[in-house]
Amino acid sequence: MIKLAFALVGLAAITSPALAQDRPAPARWSIAIHGGAGTMDRAAMSEAQQADYKASLQAALDAGARVLASGGSAGDAVVAVITRLEDDPKFNAGRGAVFTWQGTNELDSSFMLGDGRRAGAVAGVSHVKNPILLARAVMEDGRHVMLSGTGAEEFAASHGIEMVDPGYFATPERRESLERLKADQLSAYDVDHKFGTVGAVALDTQGHVAAGTSTGGITGKRWGRIGDSPVIGAGTYAQDGVCAISATGSGEYFIRVGVAKSICDRIALAGAGAQDAADQVMAEVGALGGDGGVIVVAPNGDAVFSFNTQGMYRGRATSDGVNEVAIFAGE
Ligand code: ASP
Repeated sequence: MIKLAFALVGLAAITSPALAQDRPAPARWSIAIHGGAGTMDRAAMSEAQQADYKASLQAALDAGARVLASGGSAGDAVVAVITRLEDDPKFNAGRGAVFTWQGTNELDSSFMLGDGRRAGAVAGVSHVKNPILLARAVMEDGRHVMLSGTGAEEFAASHGIEMVDPGYFATPERRESLERLKADQLSAYDVDHKFGTVGAVALDTQGHVAAGTSTGGITGKRWGRIGDSPVIGAGTYAQDGVCAISATGSGEYFIRVGVAKSICDRIALAGAGAQDAADQVMAEVGALGGDGGVIVVAPNGDAVFSFNTQGMYRGRATSDGVNEVAIFAGE
């Protein structure tokens, strides 16, 4: 009799619409990624090149989305995306980074968790295969937020981070950009039409957000120049309950505007939506003469882009079924 009662209750639990409604909705996740913004001329890019970039973006996006869909953390999703893009020579991060004036590659990266606003960043490293892993290690260590140059590399070596010969980062295409810049006395922005920095922002099913950015900076940089990418608050920011941001573009302007933190503040303090906040701050960058773009995720699951260039390599995926990659504006 008791067994029968349990069986009936069990059956009711399966079939009762009231109980079905009480079940918590599946938790939301979302992710947005970028591979740099810039002058992308549709006519100048072959179908095959476009397909190649889109395939790389999709593979990176899928890697991040898989982490989130299986209940993994936003931080792990960000790292899954960025390590792939760092390993891909098409992008200006890790292998395929742009050259400095001296013909070397100096890499910058940052990583931030919304939970506790923990952050780590590195600048000017030239032996670290995946700078995003070093940025995360700096955060996990917790003593400092930003390390640079040989000190950062000493830290990397003592924390089991994979080191490589500097020749690993060099590609003929990026070397040619440096030679053209020097021969024609161009600026970095003339040769780096597509900036190529990479970044990812994510919201996980626990409601935490994370952001990361990785870059070789700009072609022909010298004097230890550091852009916005490793600067927490400029190129990267994450705050639980508010947003996660990664930026790409003319770094000097992004530092001066404090782009990532400024977007978060508009959301937190002025109650702006993610898209409006991002558009407003990108308009400020544009008004000063800077260009580029940002990716943003918000706690409600919104994943948005804002850029003032002809294009931005980008992608987004959410638990609501959004899954797309794109290159040009209006796509
Ligand atoms: N923001 C990077 C820098 O200025 C460049 C980029 O986004 O491509 O170093």
